Amino acid sequence: MPIDPDFQKNREKVGKEEGVANWGPIDPPEKLGIRGTYVAVDWDICTGCGTCIEVCPAKLYEWVDTSGHPTSDKKAFPARESDCIQCFQCDKRCPVQAIRVIFWPSRCLVAMSYLFMAQMMFGLGYGIFMGPYLGLRIPLFVGWVIVPIGFFFMASPGIYFPKKGIPQEGKTTMDTTVLVDSGTYGIVRHPQFLGVVMLMSASILISQHWLSAVVGILTLVWGYSIYLPKEEEGLIIRFGDDYKRYMERVPGLNPLVGVIRLLRRKKKK
Ligand code: SF4
Ligand code: SF4
Repeated sequence: MPIDPDFQKNREKVGKEEGVANWGPIDPPEKLGIRGTYVAVDWDICTGCGTCIEVCPAKLYEWVDTSGHPTSDKKAFPARESDCIQCFQCDKRCPVQAIRVIFWPSRCLVAMSYLFMAQMMFGLGYGIFMGPYLGLRIPLFVGWVIVPIGFFFMASPGIYFPKKGIPQEGKTTMDTTVLVDSGTYGIVRHPQFLGVVMLMSASILISQHWLSAVVGILTLVWGYSIYLPKEEEGLIIRFGDDYKRYMERVPGLNPLVGVIRLLRRKKKK
C-alpha cells in the first residue's frame, strides 16, 4: 500500500527530528510513521532499497538505522527537505511508493516573494502618492504600461497549468507530469519570473526612487543567479529530453526572441 497522499490531514504531527516533521502513529521498533512534510517518506512502507538515495540530485536523504522494523532495518530520512529541487525522481522511482514529494515554494522563493511585494508596494505607492522622485513623465508612462503585462505573465502557472498540465493523482496542477509549453510558456520558459522582472522594473520606473532600484536589482540578480538555475535543473531531470528540446525551442527569459521564434514556428506549420 502506497503512502497516504493526504497524510497531512489524516495523521497527527507528533514531533520533529533534526527539523523534519514526524507524523504518527509511532511505536518503535514496529511502527515508525512518516518523516517529512514536503519530501515525505512512510517508514512503515520503506524497504530500505536505496533508490531514492541514489537518484536524488540534491543528496538530501540519509540512512537511519531502524533495527527491528518488519520491512527493513534502515530507512531513507529526508534530512534536508529544503534542498529539494522538485525533480520528483524519488517519488516516481520508489518501488513501494513510500515517498510523496509535494510542490511548495522553497525558502529562496518565499524570501524573493517578500522582497518583490515590498519593492512593488513601495514603488507603486511612492509613484501614486508622492509622484515620481525624478519627475520623468515618459518612464512613468512606460512603467504603467508594463504593469498589466507583468501581472499577466506572473499569473502564467495559474492560467496554463490547470488547462494544460496533468497532475499526479491527489496532487495539484503545479505538480504536472507533462511539460506545459504553450501560451506564455511558448514565448519564454520562465514566464512567472519574467512577470516579476517586468513588475519590479515597472515599480522602479513609476517611483524613480533609488531604494526601489536597489532592492529591485538585487532581488532580480539573486533570483536569476540562484533560484532560476536550481529550478531549471529540477525541470531537466523531471522532464528529461522533452525539456532539453523545449530549451532549444524557447528562450529562458527574453520575450523578444521568444515572440520571433514563436512566429517562425507558426509560419512553418
Ligand atoms: S526508494 Fe522507497 S523503499 Fe527505497 S529506500 Fe527510498 S523510500 Fe525506501
Ligand atoms: S524530488 Fe528530486 S531533489 Fe527532491 S528529494 Fe526527490 S529526488 Fe531529491
